Amino acid sequence: MRLRYRESSAQMRKRKKTARNLLKPLDPIVLKRGRGRPPNMSPSEVFNRARNYRGIFGQVWDRLWEPLLASKTEDDVIRAFEKYADPFSREFVPRLSSVIWQVIRHKKFPVRRGAQINFLADSLAGLNALKPRRARDIVAEGMAQLRARQKHRTVRREFYIECTCGYEGPTYKRKCPMRDPERAKVESEKFLLALTHR
Ligand SMILES: [Zn+2]
Repeated sequence: MRLRYRESSAQMRKRKKTARNLLKPLDPIVLKRGRGRPPNMSPSEVFNRARNYRGIFGQVWDRLWEPLLASKTEDDVIRAFEKYADPFSREFVPRLSSVIWQVIRHKKFPVRRGAQINFLADSLAGLNALKPRRARDIVAEGMAQLRARQKHRTVRREFYIECTCGYEGPTYKRKCPMRDPERAKVESEKFLLALTHR
């Protein structure tokens, strides 16, 4: 197989870097500014904190949820976090205990584990500066943007080849498509179709 286009080492480094970036937190997402938000808390800050909190609750929820949801007072909320959310409890209590207390008694507080985690995490992402509802709206908008972006994420990159077998065109999984009998059939059909439609 002779390559007409060779990937340069710079491009290869770039590709590897791109793959690594998928594991890192995403760039700040730009959201429209809403009313009633202090200027020092940007939507992307709220969004990133929500993702962080989702991760934390994912780690402690199996121990935390039962005592937390059984809370009868705000003090119970603090105790539940101190006992079952270590080592993260200081992030949440006592500074957010009254918001947590409010959120877990919300009439739409979800029933399923994953939904509970997200609901609480998103609600708290505005700390005491945003209403839980406003924080959840910001996170929902960020998630929608993230999904739209991931829709166009390159998962396979091909190049153009001239092969000794006579094939000329894009690779399939980086190899000559004619190596694979099934794929060769598809390519031949494409070729014939192009001929008949000329
Ligand atoms: Zn070939």
